Amino acid sequence: MLQSSDGKDQAAREPNELVQMALKAMENAYVPYSGFHVGAALIADNGKVYTGCNIENASYGATICAERTAIVKAISDGARGIKAIAITSDSPEATMPCGICRQTLAEFCAPDTPLYLSDRFGQYTAYVFKDILPHAFTQKDLEAAKEC
Ligand SMILES: [Zn+2]
Repeated sequence: MLQSSDGKDQAAREPNELVQMALKAMENAYVPYSGFHVGAALIADNGKVYTGCNIENASYGATICAERTAIVKAISDGARGIKAIAITSDSPEATMPCGICRQTLAEFCAPDTPLYLSDRFGQYTAYVFKDILPHAFTQKDLEAAKEC
């Protein structure tokens, strides 16, 4: 069984379990403007699970998505990579990450990192990262420029 960020990694990496954790995290969404609730749960390379919800702001640009909330929690706790992530919302359709989140994920995912994109009922479709952001701009692009 997976545990929260307080616990240690468990061998089990059941997608359903990660999706359920994302659904639970969604309950804390702060969305007074859009009313669109989103939750995310990721397994980091330190073996811990981090969850996040979207947090809106009256200054809309200060809003942060659920995925990025989970990522900043993980990275600020010392993690440096994502092993898997589940994302869900209160939509009847599977939830796709926005462009900013895809770019943030690119920093910490491998091309084959699994993503479980779920609807409000916990029905998910499995993708790998390269499916949702092929040709990502990454650190390699910066390194290539330095070599010129
Ligand atoms: Zn986003």
